Amino acid sequence: RQGMPDNLAIARDALLRPIEEIANRLGVPGEMVEPYGRGIAKLDLAALGALAKRQRARYVVVSAITPTPLGEGKTTTSIGLVQGLQQLGHSATVALRQPSMGPALGFKGGAAGAGYSQVVPMERINLHLTGDIHAVSSAHNLLAAMVDNHLHHRLGLDLDPETIGWQRVMDINDRALRHIVTGLGPSADGVTRQSSFEITAASEVMAVLALATSLADLRSRLGRIRVGFTRSGEPVTAEQIGAAGAMTVLLKEAIKPNLLQTLEHAPALIHTGPFGNIAHGNSSIIADRIGLLGGEYLVTEAGFGADMGAERFFNIKCRASGLTPDAAVLVATVRALKFHSGRYAMLPGKPLPSAMLRESPEDVRAGSANLVKQIDNLRIHGVTPVVAINAFPSDHASEHAAIRDIAEAAGVRATVSSHVREGGVGALDLAQAVVEAADGGSNFRFLYPDEMPLDAKIACIATRLYGAADVSFSPEARRQIDSYQQQGHGHLPVCIAKTHLSLSSDPALRGAPTGWTLPVREVRLSAGAGFVYALCGDIRTMPGLGRDPAAAHLDIDDNGEITGLF
Ligand code: ADP
Ligand code: MG
Repeated sequence: RQGMPDNLAIARDALLRPIEEIANRLGVPGEMVEPYGRGIAKLDLAALGALAKRQRARYVVVSAITPTPLGEGKTTTSIGLVQGLQQLGHSATVALRQPSMGPALGFKGGAAGAGYSQVVPMERINLHLTGDIHAVSSAHNLLAAMVDNHLHHRLGLDLDPETIGWQRVMDINDRALRHIVTGLGPSADGVTRQSSFEITAASEVMAVLALATSLADLRSRLGRIRVGFTRSGEPVTAEQIGAAGAMTVLLKEAIKPNLLQTLEHAPALIHTGPFGNIAHGNSSIIADRIGLLGGEYLVTEAGFGADMGAERFFNIKCRASGLTPDAAVLVATVRALKFHSGRYAMLPGKPLPSAMLRESPEDVRAGSANLVKQIDNLRIHGVTPVVAINAFPSDHASEHAAIRDIAEAAGVRATVSSHVREGGVGALDLAQAVVEAADGGSNFRFLYPDEMPLDAKIACIATRLYGAADVSFSPEARRQIDSYQQQGHGHLPVCIAKTHLSLSSDPALRGAPTGWTLPVREVRLSAGAGFVYALCGDIRTMPGLGRDPAAAHLDIDDNGEITGLF
């Protein structure tokens, strides 16, 4: 990064302000701030009541064009934007997902921003933070243990072991746990059945925590989680297993948002981390609500490209919260547009092919279809985005100009943002454009009404947002949709689990593919989270480690300084 210290070095040199001071900026009374070590606090939910009379901030969602496997900088841009807003004299808060430890230990890349747009202390964010992910694992695994205990003691419900859809979870990538057998040994050691582990971010409990609007709502959502069926085909819930109360108890601290700060001391709420494919991939509603009462702007990041994270932000998260966005930012990069030209192959965990670093506005233009489609995907929801060109050291001015031309031809404003290299002053143009966009307001609308049948909702997302010509349902998916409709879940929104590396369901297709068919293999119900998800293509819920995992480079010296975390 040409003369710039690495992320960990910048983060380590940061001078943190006392977290009480950051909470004070949000207007949260001192007695509602629970410190968790230097620079970290949880905010008591009573803060929602204490701030209730305040004016609601402008709500800004940050999304991106379809990313390369490296990510295009939604997190850094969200952080840079609040720092830029702050430089303009506004109070602004950023709300982000808490990263899973899976990627932090798996492939390189911390998830707390980069350069001079980071949230600190970054080691804590990437590793454990305040233990929320562990609490989610515990609550999830408690339900799993109580389900197996129910089978073992033959407790009343006549649960059919073959129908149990509730696995175990943990927050480490471990492919050897994708298929397991539990209850081996004598009958005193439990009922033998096939099962599996998923990563904690994929737990429905994580999605529930992210979408809960209060402790009572959390309790009832957990109770609605479906674990399997009785032998006569009746659904069985966590409430019937008797686990929902204890699960809520285990989550009573995890429901409180974590407050940290950016390098320029803007408040940062880091809370919950649901998967971006089988779940909605957005941080919590509760954190957004507190942030919306605590200043003039709340900037929240939605995972993956606008077809995925932003679509779920609009149709799942905003449906659950009742909140509506005032503005949107669409992050675009030179490297991603070159990737969408279809002229370069990129592999996860591998550096960019060197040919991609050559100055070529022509390559950028060749990838324009993706940017144009993702702009359209936000506009379909009544929100006109500002395009943030996230500047990388390897970019050329002619390439930035090419992106600006594409955006302007599509009728939207684009600004180059150098927040990674310069902090908030690098994002002044972006911040100014967002202020003006939010002043103009949005005509926000959902993509589909609640009463649209589930199969039509899936087809609506596929054809209108992804550009599919058609959708095909496997016989199993058809059966599942029919049963959810019959059981009264037809009003739920849908979440489509597909690759994030293409607008289509085929990760090899670049740009904005048309004329293809979305294959829906299976449709599952997350009754607690309150959505149905459709599996399209290969979606892994337990990642594996690569040949050279990031963990092999992580170490700590005698002074307790961590090395090898980026
Ligand atoms: P996203 O949130 O969209 O996945 P991130 O903000 O986490 O993206 O950035 C993805 C990766 O790219 C990170 O490793 C980050 O350090 C790096 N990165 C992002 N923006 C820049 C930039 N402007 N210059 C250099 N590296 C960047
Ligand atoms: Mg991110």
